[in-house]
Amino acid sequence: MKASPQEIASGLDVERIRADFPILRQQAHGHPLVYLDNAATSQKPKAVIDAIVRYYERDNANIHRGVHYLSQQATEEFEAARKAVQLFLHAARPSEIIFLRGATEAINLVAQTYGRVHVGAGDEVLITAMEHHSNIVPWQMLCDEKGAKLRVAPINDHGELILEEFERLLGPRTKIVAIGHVSNALGTINPIAKIIKMAHAKNVPVLVDGAQAVPHVAVNVQELDCDFYVFSSHKLYGPTGVGILYGKQALLEAMPPYQGGGDMISSVTFEKTTYNKVPHKFEAGTPDMSGAVGLRAAIEYLNKLGMENIAAHEHELLEYATQKVSAIPGVRIVGTAKEKAGVLSFVIEGVHPHDIGTILDQEGIAIRTGHHCAQPVMERFGIDATARASFALYNTKEEVDALLRGIKKVEEVFA
Ligand code: PMP
Repeated sequence: MKASPQEIASGLDVERIRADFPILRQQAHGHPLVYLDNAATSQKPKAVIDAIVRYYERDNANIHRGVHYLSQQATEEFEAARKAVQLFLHAARPSEIIFLRGATEAINLVAQTYGRVHVGAGDEVLITAMEHHSNIVPWQMLCDEKGAKLRVAPINDHGELILEEFERLLGPRTKIVAIGHVSNALGTINPIAKIIKMAHAKNVPVLVDGAQAVPHVAVNVQELDCDFYVFSSHKLYGPTGVGILYGKQALLEAMPPYQGGGDMISSVTFEKTTYNKVPHKFEAGTPDMSGAVGLRAAIEYLNKLGMENIAAHEHELLEYATQKVSAIPGVRIVGTAKEKAGVLSFVIEGVHPHDIGTILDQEGIAIRTGHHCAQPVMERFGIDATARASFALYNTKEEVDALLRGIKKVEEVFA
């Protein structure tokens, strides 16, 4: 779909950008594809696809262990990707960047290493009521194992964290805070700088789940002073199968390894193994080299466009969609925080969200329906599910208009 002149004026030439994403050119059920399921996974620009092809055509070999030309080439590519992620997050050192499978694995790693050492019987882990299951279950598993307690800071009717409650729950037994930067179900942007300060004032470290934040806002982990920050490549226009754990060097060094295997050791005998330095201590086995190369290409693509321009464009789209959708009788937006990014969750009176999704699909419009892996959020709002449109840098106001027409059609069908 064509971008309007306003969108070009907002800093991004969306029409040109769309040409970079081959998948967007197709039709779905005879209509131009309108892809509004970006919070689940975003589409990949040609630059990312080409980088992966180039890696396999030119550079592929196993890394770190080979003396031969290709192995060195692949190692250089992999380490260059680490450097790109370091700069993207504004981390102090490349060794603070660990390549994993995704945000989920990164949270599990911290729970099972840092958590297992520092959380004991009677201690507490503090999360919020708007977390994705990935930032609930690993902590629940840890608490069950250790006899610790999972405390949950509540949210208000807009889907905003109640900061006074959060601060009250930060107690002498709190050993770690784990909080989403941006909620995937509500779109709320949490004031994490403030939250980190509150936690640090009580000597509690903070893990930030940035899975939904990195595609929309610039992140500076040193300025935030967070202890851990995690995200997945596939939501950041990069390939699937790769995710990042950022951790402060001193914390990573003090943590025990997560998985055992090749590359994470410095020496092995049957009596004793000594572990490699960070980040390698946490990268057991052959990593996803082509995935890392693809993630680097995605970061370079975003850097060229500028995160500020992307944020401004998406903000405009979200404001436009919010205003139009909330004006449709019978439609209620779930998640009306003052600070939001990328996500418009809604329900239509008398229509199950799955029916909304199915009817929109027939119009070529891809949205997500369900609990969005955030069942406690649904419970908080007294619903089972929502319909969720989520925006990316390549979406246009015309696509929002298609969504509005689709919603009206749903209402006609169920009238
Ligand atoms: N946290 C949030 C807020 C998410 O939205 C998601 C993915 N929906 C995750 C964590 C988990 O990401 P992944 O499945 O890529 O590990």
